[in-house]
Amino acid sequence: MLPTTIPSLGNSDMKLLVTGGAGFIGSAVVRMAVARGYDVLNLDCLTYSANLANVASVADHSHYAFAQADIRDADALRDIFGRYQPDAVIHLAAESHVDRSIDSPVTFIDTNITGTFNMLEASRQCWTAAGKPDRFRFLHVSTDEVFGSLGDEGVFTEASPYAPRSPYAASKAASDHLARAWHETYGLPVIVTNSSNNYGPHQFPEKLIPLVILNAVAGRSIPVYGRGENVRNWLHVDDHADALLRVAELGQPGRSYNIGGPEEVRNIDLVRNICTLLDASGRLPHKATDLITFVQDRPGHDHRYAIDATRIRRELGWAPAKNLDAGLPETVMWYLDNEPWWRSLLSGTEFGNRLGLNV
Ligand code: NAD
Repeated sequence: MLPTTIPSLGNSDMKLLVTGGAGFIGSAVVRMAVARGYDVLNLDCLTYSANLANVASVADHSHYAFAQADIRDADALRDIFGRYQPDAVIHLAAESHVDRSIDSPVTFIDTNITGTFNMLEASRQCWTAAGKPDRFRFLHVSTDEVFGSLGDEGVFTEASPYAPRSPYAASKAASDHLARAWHETYGLPVIVTNSSNNYGPHQFPEKLIPLVILNAVAGRSIPVYGRGENVRNWLHVDDHADALLRVAELGQPGRSYNIGGPEEVRNIDLVRNICTLLDASGRLPHKATDLITFVQDRPGHDHRYAIDATRIRRELGWAPAKNLDAGLPETVMWYLDNEPWWRSLLSGTEFGNRLGLNV
């Protein structure tokens, strides 16, 4: 449902339109942007992975407004852009879970590709009508999964060729290409970011870290694909949010920036770390480590991702503030301390299998 009026949002210098701001990363961006004095309009249609509790801390802020709208609805976007006239767009709204994309790719095509096309067109019309202001930015938030899978050596740079292997990664790759084409063809000031795996509070519990924690809390088996030897590069969600705001302010149109965490970890080591933290917390009546269960690998499971974030470090002065040693214990404690947040999600009917609870 669209609001009939979008409130006047105060006097900050930059009006941001954030899509997907009720999701995991988007809500971190919204909370940080409001805290830093931006005007923020959060545009989200509230799919299963959204939770307005993620932005409850800013809901009454005079610099914040929420519009429930679907990026697949071009008319709704035109209306919102016309009334809000953003200085910058940070586009995060997407279907984001690889496993779901394997079972049911169609929503990924509609939202991630057509939805991004609608966002680019609405932005182009708004930017053109405003006289093509130099400061306008369309920041398209993407993933390192567009680059495919690495062997034991090497890293993804901004020049790495695209080689997506899952329907999710392919839909994000397609949207990256659209975003770049809107820069090359129409001059729209587009920037693309490709980030590694995020973790932290408020992540929907189908993703690896909250899935492990909540299965452990419930005393259920903790499914690990294959032998758990896939390697991932983990980035704390607040470091990602900080990077995105920095790119929106300082990034160069037409350029892309890789955003990566400080370390690479094998999935099995990460899962064991989480279980060790849970066992040390004394909060579970059973031993989490005993619940780890290896399950059949998923098709097209990329072996390793590793990000070279030299460009954003060098050109924009960004560096991650948190490594896993600091961020993982905090994250584990956040889920243990915020049961009402995840209980409300588990009460939905659609999640059981996806959460790995029946494995
Ligand atoms: P999420 O699933 O937690 O949140 C997605 C948000 O988008 C939800 O609030 C949802 O309601 C909204 N949304 C989905 N479809 C929509 C539509 N049609 N119209 C309007 N809103 C819609 O996802 P996330 O993990 O926060 O990821 C956000 C973005 O960051 C995505 O574009 C994802 O591809 C990208 N990304 C994620 C990671 C990661 O590790 N999670 C890493 C790199 C890039």
